Amino acid sequence: MKIIFIGPPGSGKGTQAKRLAGRFEIPHISTGDMLREAVAAGTPVGQQAASIMAAGQLVPDDLMIRMIDDRLSRPDATKGFILDGFPRTLVQAEKLETIVGNGNGSLRVLQLLVPDDAIVRRITLRRTCAQCGAIYHLENQPPANDSVCDRCGAEVIARPDDTEEAVRKRLESFHRQTMPVATFYKSKSILREVDGIGPVDEVFERIEQSLA
Ligand SMILES: [Zn+2]
Repeated sequence: MKIIFIGPPGSGKGTQAKRLAGRFEIPHISTGDMLREAVAAGTPVGQQAASIMAAGQLVPDDLMIRMIDDRLSRPDATKGFILDGFPRTLVQAEKLETIVGNGNGSLRVLQLLVPDDAIVRRITLRRTCAQCGAIYHLENQPPANDSVCDRCGAEVIARPDDTEEAVRKRLESFHRQTMPVATFYKSKSILREVDGIGPVDEVFERIEQSLA
């Protein structure tokens, strides 16, 4: 099971990828998590990435490729993996072919489809407890008392980068980057599109079916 998981930010991709990793007992390799860990640990890659991200730029292809190449060579990835956040560009996708070998033969690419408006709704109505981190949704799962956390009584707030404008901007840049990657895999007939709308369990079922 060598799976590439593509999906817009806020689509629930991370949750589904984690679950799928548990189901197949293969590692969930999230480049977002890896970068955060590398930065926190102060590794050479982390230091390089930190200064690039601090300047508001995207981490360059060669750095991402080195990181993934290194990660996929670890023993736990030999029987399979789920890549989340990579490849994000055509250059990365082409390079991945040489890393996994045999011209993508064993790769499967899942694309989770969620319309932008649904994601905007999901994220702008999301509220987080400032104290314990509990997550609410004003429509689907509101706290019992307005802006007070059910669990700890602290204030429940919107994250500053969860405004509609910010979310649409993130989505735009995702679509611009990912479209060529999705087209690349479509042309190789290994792309499966999965409807990402609905409860987590239902979406997971669709994902499993698409891999069967
Ligand atoms: Zn709380």
